[in-house]
Amino acid sequence: RRLEQIRNFSIIAHIDHGKSTLADRLIERSGALSQREMAEQVLDSMDLERERGITIKAQSVSLDYTARDGRTYQLNFIDTPGHVDFSYEVSRSLYACEGALLLVDASQGVEAQSVANCYTAVEQGLEVLPVLNKIDLVSADPDRVVQQIEEIIGLDAADVLKISAKTGQGLDELLESLVQHFPPPMGDPDGPLKALIIDSWFNNYLGVVCLVRVFDGVVQPGEKIRVHSTGREFTVDQVGIFTPKQTSWQSLTAGRVGYVIAGIKSLDGAPVGDTLTHASQKTTVPLPGFKVVKPRVFAGVFPVSAEDYEDCREALAKLRLNDTALRYEPETSQALGFGFRCGFLGMLHMEIVQERLEREYGLNLITTAPTVVHEVLTTRAEVLEVHNPADLPPLGEIKEIREPIIQASILVPQEYLGNVIKLCEDKRGSQKSLQYVGNQIALEYEMPMSEVVLDFFDRLKSASRGFASFDYEFRRFQVASLVKLDILVNGEPVDALSTIVHRDLAQVRGRELTERLKSIIPRQMFEVAIQAAVGSRIIARSTIKALRKNVTAKCYGGDITRKKKLLEKQKAGKRRMKQVGKIEIPQDAFLAVLQVD
Ligand code: GDP
Ligand code: MG
Repeated sequence: RRLEQIRNFSIIAHIDHGKSTLADRLIERSGALSQREMAEQVLDSMDLERERGITIKAQSVSLDYTARDGRTYQLNFIDTPGHVDFSYEVSRSLYACEGALLLVDASQGVEAQSVANCYTAVEQGLEVLPVLNKIDLVSADPDRVVQQIEEIIGLDAADVLKISAKTGQGLDELLESLVQHFPPPMGDPDGPLKALIIDSWFNNYLGVVCLVRVFDGVVQPGEKIRVHSTGREFTVDQVGIFTPKQTSWQSLTAGRVGYVIAGIKSLDGAPVGDTLTHASQKTTVPLPGFKVVKPRVFAGVFPVSAEDYEDCREALAKLRLNDTALRYEPETSQALGFGFRCGFLGMLHMEIVQERLEREYGLNLITTAPTVVHEVLTTRAEVLEVHNPADLPPLGEIKEIREPIIQASILVPQEYLGNVIKLCEDKRGSQKSLQYVGNQIALEYEMPMSEVVLDFFDRLKSASRGFASFDYEFRRFQVASLVKLDILVNGEPVDALSTIVHRDLAQVRGRELTERLKSIIPRQMFEVAIQAAVGSRIIARSTIKALRKNVTAKCYGGDITRKKKLLEKQKAGKRRMKQVGKIEIPQDAFLAVLQVD
């Protein structure tokens, strides 16, 4: 089929506005799957995604649609994630497309990621088609939302399509208008092969599967291809498309989105963003890759038992293959032993990686409190990037510490403006702009990232009864008065409990932390002192009193079932404990810093 009959598009939206549901309807329409196969939300294939109801990995699907002009078009669409942590996946998917459907919930209206994702699409030169979803809801207010699309985003929405991804209402008009609205792909099928790796993952039987967008040329089985960045060559075994079932084809030509399997066995053999060419084309200029995303939040991940260390490394390597934002490097902690310092885009990303490591790879882990990246200017005029408070140079060698500053874009209905401003000020934010757009306010704030990564999102939601939405972008590093707060347990510093805090807050934080740890660390047969220190100065202290003998006796002397229960509980708890000196510290302790108000 010719290029004019291909449409490559993405669906972009704020989270929960209905992307995945619409994708399901499209697959259903294509008839590619039987009712039986059409499990709910096929695209959210990972268990975790289904449970959390969010899309983590972008997925692609090709389907045929016979338009009113009598011609059959191949529609290639990519379902993108919508959470703020995963905005890099959105932009990645958009590289493969000429058009984007901007789906807006007709009852919720325009939210922060509707705006952010739409701007990303426009910046990448895509045609954007706004669509109102959930029109079946009684609370849908299309007129208000049309006005918002025009005022907040600046798109013409006079003839906006109104659909229900749930009932399928408006689907025909949608398909018809995307065929008319989106341009066909361009590209030279006779030119030298250039295919962009949009995504890649490991399949136990096939090796590495690459999802590619072919920009020029043709790729087919039997040909020798080269991965541009590494110069390594492979023979193509199979090419094809996802309908969403993997369906093999004779070739993939310019303009198409599909998969390539080429006996690539090593996990790093096909990096996302890389270009595939024919092995004979030694001089081809690669396609511009993706913007490199930098993880901004780091935390320690330690296997509870030391034997799991290698398994943990392997699991991280596998996850990293199709999650380019995930970083990891070996870390040794005096308290927790051998593990990894991992970098994430944000808290949700971190939670998801942690859950996947535990569920899919059966690992039992202790994680430490996440921290943002700091820049340190040393007295020798070096600039260090510090991922771990334990890596800070000694006080005497630090000239200044710089913290990351983000710019937050918040959309909030007027009645909650006061609450939201108060929250931003509490989080050390400084207002950059405040703008009325319809009945909403668009706020811009600069804030230290450390104040945002932990719980800002939850607080914003509760300050606005769920109505405010936000998006953020890293801006710069800025000098701040920061110090390392150490925690000592019976005089021994526990490296994994160190944090970087504002000098003015150190005392308060130290007191809160030592109190909290006192309630988390179980009582021992001896007294335990918990101290907080800045440098060699102790700034707070709490004491866990020794257990008296008769207390233990009472505990374990009861009836048999209670004792058994207790032992079982203890056994379960043990797996999550770490021995520090003579003291067992439970996992909770390493996250205690997060719970400080
Ligand atoms: P995503 O986060 O954008 O992928 O959103 P989902 O497709 O997961 O949808 C979020 C929620 O909205 C789910 O509970 C869907 O069932 C619901 N939903 C999606 N589209 C519609 C619709 O057209 N009408 C109604 N009433 N609910 C919808
Ligand atoms: Mg989804």
